[in-house]
Amino acid sequence: MDHQPKKRIFIGLLVFTCLILFFLIFLLWYVPIVGLKNIHPSLPLIFSVTLSALVFLMLSGGLLLVFTILRGKDIFFSYKLRGIVTKILFPFMILMGRLVGVSKEKVQQSFIELNNHLVRSNTHRTRLNRLLILLPHCIQNFDCQIKITANVKNCQGCGKCEIKDLIELADAYRVNIAVATGGTLARRIIVENKPEAIVAVACELDLTSGIQDSYPIPVIGILNERPNGPCINTKVDIGKVRNAILDFLEPQGAIKV
Ligand code: SF4
Repeated sequence: MDHQPKKRIFIGLLVFTCLILFFLIFLLWYVPIVGLKNIHPSLPLIFSVTLSALVFLMLSGGLLLVFTILRGKDIFFSYKLRGIVTKILFPFMILMGRLVGVSKEKVQQSFIELNNHLVRSNTHRTRLNRLLILLPHCIQNFDCQIKITANVKNCQGCGKCEIKDLIELADAYRVNIAVATGGTLARRIIVENKPEAIVAVACELDLTSGIQDSYPIPVIGILNERPNGPCINTKVDIGKVRNAILDFLEPQGAIKV
């Protein structure tokens, strides 16, 4: 339930953007239509048909996105919709958010929720050994001297941070797990592991850039908790990670633990 308002921010900004675009398209149609008639009598008709097709595409794309979100199931093209939201709409929404006074962080949270929703609406499920849990380094206890970025299994399981629980979760479901110190290492881990899907834990900034960089690989993003401020001894809701793993697994491949 707490996710609903976050998604609404993105949808609200999207509707606002569409209204502005429709107005601009109307001006684009109305102003030259008189001038075009002077060049050739059939030019206004060709121009009107082209702009109508553009408006139809925008409307049907927007409605498809809204219905996919409302139904929670893939109607069609959810994979393509995710690409459009990730590559085209998100940068626009950041700009529109700035115009109407919605913070970048809130738009990022909304984008992550919307992305997760679109990923979950797709019924294609991932093989166990091709699912990757990708964690930020700041989740490791700050005083722990063990190097876990090269191999997370170096963790001694002392329980001072959630790395222990997350490794146990990954082992239970037989999925891969890795820790990245930043975007470059995260990209390298993805290239080496070639995952079919990713459950990523990070802050708003890293999650949004990670989701964008990883496309077309589906990513369910889980925001970390920062009780000690950003980038130090961060935490994550293990239940959310478990749910995200289950969302990706083939129903017949899911193992109850
Ligand atoms: S659980 Fe692992 S990573 Fe965390 S502090 Fe203990 S040994 Fe270090």
